[in-house]
Amino acid sequence: MRGPPVSARPDALVVGGGIIGLLSARELVAAGLSVQLIDRGPFGGECSWAGGGILSPLVPWRYPPAVTALAARSHFLHATLAEELANGDGPDPERLVSGMLVLGATRDAEVEAWLAAWIGAAQGLAENPDPGLRAVDGAELVRLAPALNPALAADAGGLLLEHIAQVRNPRLLRALVNELDWRGVQLVNGVEAESLQVAGGRIQGVHTNDGLLPAGVVVLAAGAWSGPLAATAGIELAVTPVRGQMLLLRGVPGRLRQVVVRDRCYLIPRADGHVLVGSTMEEAGFDSGTTEEAREDLRAFATGLMPELGNLAVERHWAGLRPGSPEGVPFVGPVPGVAGLYLNTGHFRNGFATGPASARLVTDLLLGRAPSLDPAPYAPPAAAPGPDRAALVLDSV
Ligand SMILES: Cc1cc2nc3c(=O)[nH]c(=O)nc-3n(C[C@H](O)[C@H](O)[C@H](O)COP(=O)(O)OP(=O)(O)OC[C@H]3O[C@@H](n4cnc5c(N)ncnc54)[C@H](O)[C@@H]3O)c2cc1C
Repeated sequence: MRGPPVSARPDALVVGGGIIGLLSARELVAAGLSVQLIDRGPFGGECSWAGGGILSPLVPWRYPPAVTALAARSHFLHATLAEELANGDGPDPERLVSGMLVLGATRDAEVEAWLAAWIGAAQGLAENPDPGLRAVDGAELVRLAPALNPALAADAGGLLLEHIAQVRNPRLLRALVNELDWRGVQLVNGVEAESLQVAGGRIQGVHTNDGLLPAGVVVLAAGAWSGPLAATAGIELAVTPVRGQMLLLRGVPGRLRQVVVRDRCYLIPRADGHVLVGSTMEEAGFDSGTTEEAREDLRAFATGLMPELGNLAVERHWAGLRPGSPEGVPFVGPVPGVAGLYLNTGHFRNGFATGPASARLVTDLLLGRAPSLDPAPYAPPAAAPGPDRAALVLDSV
């Protein structure tokens, strides 16, 4: 369904067109709001383009229940999203239920607690909310993934999550942009938000390099860059950039079927034979450059896990800046002290795995609908009381 036409003052202005901003705009327009989405670069051109597209946290039981709740709900929302996008202008995001092997993991109390939390959070979204968890011993692992280093696989065993899927990020992002365009979202590239304008305790709009954009409500979804923008409204936001580097190898289709995770790194096999090798975790400020050291480390990891990858040339090497947050729990919801300002940011390593549920949640809260899950763990910090921020910003120019 198309949304209402966007006037000079849209109902909602979304700042940042990565996966989180795109999914937020999609939920808002579906709810009948007129929506404008701005990005200073191409939509999806930052962290979201750089990501691997695994639709689960890597070692999911290591995250707090607040991340599990978003991931479990998003797992099912992604299936619906893929079906809906299949009827659009494309491209096909190639959602693939490849499963995910976590090497060396055993079904211990931590895993059981995670599984119970997952199933609880996914209630009502599917008849069988089970993520397909089962233990595999070394012998089965060798049968499932014969191209893995047999010594290592046989030693390790692990846990298989059979129902975990992956997507091809650039394709999902383009499909979303095409759909939002069709639905009547006003898509604006090349406009940089400089500060949030607040007057009388209420958001008025966003100052940009192209002038003031007024809006009824603003959703801040600027990924790793959300902190400095939030600060212009007196909000101290614990979102910081965490660089991740990735390699793309061109392999042969069918040699590896599951996503394979070992410690903090992983291999993602695409249907066409490409294998992604990820990823580093670096504090490098806002520098999204690549390094020779990371290239060597990732190559060594890949070859150690699957020796034949050592024969493949690196087709591409890139980096992205994740929006890091305490324990990886994003900030989702209204900002106390600034009526009409909402955050949806800080998804760290899991923006694809958790994005659909957090976009649904921020929209629930914005519209006053019963929230789809308990919003308390994601509550943004309050804005510091002070004079109208717009005046502060304008005075300082
Ligand atoms: C190597 C790597 C692998 C990853 N793998 C996975 C994975 O397998 N699964 C998973 O779920 N997650 C993964 N992630 C994490 C995931 O990519 C992020 O959580 C997600 O992309 C964050 O989305 P975002 O929309 O918040 O940020 P971004 O994609 O960075 O989007 C923010 C947008 O805001 C715009 N912006 C910023 N400042 C301004 C401004 N002032 N004015 C206007 N626009 C602005 C930027 O241009 C950008 O387009 C990975 C990340 C990396 C780096």
